[in-house]
Amino acid sequence: MTRPLRNPAALVTAGLLPPERLAGLERVAAQYAVAITPAMADLIDATDEADPIARQFLPSEAELVASPGESADPIGDDTHSPVEGIIHRYPDRCLLKITHTCAVYCRFCFRRETVGPGKGTLTPEALDAAFAYIAATPAIWEVIVTGGDPLVLSPRRLRSLMDRLAAIDHVKVVRFHTRVPAVEPERVTLELAAALRTEGLAVYVALHANHARELTLEARAACARLVDAGVPMISQTVLLAGVNDTPEVLAELMRAFVETRIKPYYLHHGDYAPGTGHLRKSLGEGRDLMKALRGNLSGLAQPTYVLDIPGGHGKVPVGPDYVGDEQVEDPWGQAHTYPPR
Ligand SMILES: *Cc1c(COP(=O)(O)O)cnc(C)c1O
Ligand code: SF4
Repeated sequence: MTRPLRNPAALVTAGLLPPERLAGLERVAAQYAVAITPAMADLIDATDEADPIARQFLPSEAELVASPGESADPIGDDTHSPVEGIIHRYPDRCLLKITHTCAVYCRFCFRRETVGPGKGTLTPEALDAAFAYIAATPAIWEVIVTGGDPLVLSPRRLRSLMDRLAAIDHVKVVRFHTRVPAVEPERVTLELAAALRTEGLAVYVALHANHARELTLEARAACARLVDAGVPMISQTVLLAGVNDTPEVLAELMRAFVETRIKPYYLHHGDYAPGTGHLRKSLGEGRDLMKALRGNLSGLAQPTYVLDIPGGHGKVPVGPDYVGDEQVEDPWGQAHTYPPR
């Protein structure tokens, strides 16, 4: 396969979905964008209904089911947007949502109401206003470039973005959040890596991946191009039912990141985005999974489990917790008196 699959009919033609589901899935696609890159389509085992790659990218009728608490703006981005394209919730860092398009459209996306082809990139005027806001706000030490997926932009546009950020004295760190190195590794050329590396700025790339199979040899090579260019990488994963909700699968993913020189950063609890109930776990299940990782997996491979509190109240680590009243639990579940007597 050489081209992205961008609608249910193309998915049926590619043999990834049965023809009898076409009509139902067209209703889903009318509401939420669909795209699967060749690299991800090639990974899907269409004979396996529980395939973890398919669950992330193939549309499902379950997306038309609303669950209590779901919202079009599940983490309250709108309440913290001083100008178009900027979300500024924490004093020292802001998001710059430079584009609304992505290489793939994830079925669990928390911005699924705002991303899609044709939703476009910021206009030059809006981008000027966003830079003006950053320049006028000295507390902003880090700019987190997101979207959509910022690495769908050309190296030339990325270079220009970096040059403009480098010109703002108080901005010291730029972080990109992306799925591209895994889902479309051929896009991460040496030219793109060089465009991110910028004199006077520390640049990080946070790779979003949810299953070890996404880290193919090509994906690992794409990440190596970034890291070798002087761009350190961290990871971001969303806890998803039927994708990565066992200790074995999570451990394999975290090890795959570390092997790729990517430091595991966050395991996100699933947000209450519309039509994502079939992919969500409970906080208790997430905490148990994290406990299972602790005794078994290198400290280097441990992510922090975080929840973005609905309504725009911010991200917090949600455990697990090992400290009780005058006792501490060990990685295998035994309690011990502390301080020792
Ligand atoms: C998640 C998020 C960040 C980044 O938070 P970190 O904990 O620094 O990774 C920044 N701003 C907004 C609005 C966010 O939602
Ligand atoms: S790449 Fe990110 S922004 Fe785009 S659909 Fe997936 S989760 Fe959403």
